[in-house]
Amino acid sequence: MLLDTQENLVIDREIAHFFDSQSKYTYEEYLNKAIQHVKSFLDRDQFYSGDFVSDFTSKQHLITPSPTTKLDIDEALQEIKELYLDHTIAFHNPDYVAHLNCPVLLPALVGDLIASSVNTAVETWDQSTSATLIEQEMIRWICSKMELPDTSDGVFTSGGTQSNFMALLLARDDYAFRHFGLNLKENGWSDVVSKFRFFCSEKAHFSIKKNAALMGMGYNAVIPVAVDNKMKMKPDALVQAIEKEKQAGNIPVAIVATAGTTDFGSFDPIDTIAKIAKEYDIWFHVDGAYGGSYVLTETHRHLLNGIGDADSVTIDFHKTMFQPVCSSAFLVRDTKNFKYVSYYADYLNPLEHRDETCPNLIEKSIQTTRRFDALKLWFTLKMTGAKTIGSFLEKVHYLALDLYHSIKDDPFFEIVHQPELSTLVFRFITPGVDNDTMHDRINLYIKNTLFKSGQASVASTKFDDKIYLKFTLLNPKSTISDLLNIIQMIKDTGLQHKTNN
Ligand SMILES: *Cc1c(COP(=O)(O)O)cnc(C)c1O
Repeated sequence: MLLDTQENLVIDREIAHFFDSQSKYTYEEYLNKAIQHVKSFLDRDQFYSGDFVSDFTSKQHLITPSPTTKLDIDEALQEIKELYLDHTIAFHNPDYVAHLNCPVLLPALVGDLIASSVNTAVETWDQSTSATLIEQEMIRWICSKMELPDTSDGVFTSGGTQSNFMALLLARDDYAFRHFGLNLKENGWSDVVSKFRFFCSEKAHFSIKKNAALMGMGYNAVIPVAVDNKMKMKPDALVQAIEKEKQAGNIPVAIVATAGTTDFGSFDPIDTIAKIAKEYDIWFHVDGAYGGSYVLTETHRHLLNGIGDADSVTIDFHKTMFQPVCSSAFLVRDTKNFKYVSYYADYLNPLEHRDETCPNLIEKSIQTTRRFDALKLWFTLKMTGAKTIGSFLEKVHYLALDLYHSIKDDPFFEIVHQPELSTLVFRFITPGVDNDTMHDRINLYIKNTLFKSGQASVASTKFDDKIYLKFTLLNPKSTISDLLNIIQMIKDTGLQHKTNN
């Protein structure tokens, strides 16, 4: 049946929304207009407009697409300005010091725009051709920085959580195969797997436990190992934990060392832990989601000594290489171990047509359709350069150290650690008052008040069962006076809470 004329007209107009050679001037026009709005986002003074969500109900009609009215580009951009760009969190603002969100580099944005527009999917050669080669080259580059052997390989992932998932999965399936002849990929669960144990420090990222649960093994499959007063895993405690589990009849299969813990930026002693993993003949994974990029620095490179002995590595370019989300990688010492996730689908990558010269990256990924996220990194390495990235990372580290030295003798602050990377965990205290419940309340009040008023975004975390504030510094353009300004706001807000209560 033919569409009626009215409907045909509508389609004629909107069919121009497709990205092709006919729409290239519209593409340019839309992007130029969008860029004007993004520029005004960049010029906003505050990292956040302040408590906006509470009056959000009045904007619900803007959020919900209307089934009858359609907007032109100016109207749509105007709505998104009101809904989002005028209010959302700006990670480039020096008052944003909460989480591991970095300011992003312009070359990376160019890469992201091109990747999104062209819409390459990198799972098979016939969808990506040279994009596959570029991703592989980015992987080879980071593997060689990590001093992994020639057999090493890797794949881009959605983030550290997914990379850690792959590490645990490969470790488990490889152990089951080598020691019990089990093929878990084909045959699924075996009872012996419920005895498998992973070891990581008590300060490791929660994704280790979460992933163990997703793999059907439960949180209890993860054994937390004690840390020293610098928040680094204690090797003797690791050995004790392994022995204890063995005595209980359980089976150690992997150790996860963290290179840069999320809260404290602490590096586990990778070298020593690598040797312990070797002695027990078990998988050694390094979670470098935060600190892995510090391989590019002169100041911290030595803290990653031994990473070349790892069986697998997680690195997040979207945390510490100034890339837009997502850009992350999972590296593995021996490319053969990707066999635990590979699948050969008749319609995509049939085994009988496997050709080393035209690789299908889907064989290495737990995703199917996958973005060409390596392109951002390619632009960054070509235009900004690895050495410069390294110096940005050194800069944010020194900023954290400066901040530490600036407030360590201040009686209103109690600091947990000297920064090893670029975080600082501390809390506001009332000098002479020993009341943790009260201090918990004040610190949460400070965090919430500064956030809601749009003054600053500081994170909170727990240490020793007490609430602390956390700065995560990832902006090399921030200055110590920017940070001391936030410190002053914290102090003012803390004192104000005291007078109010
Ligand atoms: C952030 C983080 C992760 C998780 O990474 P995502 O990219 O957020 O999934 C894992 N490990 C560590 C140490 C992290 O800091």
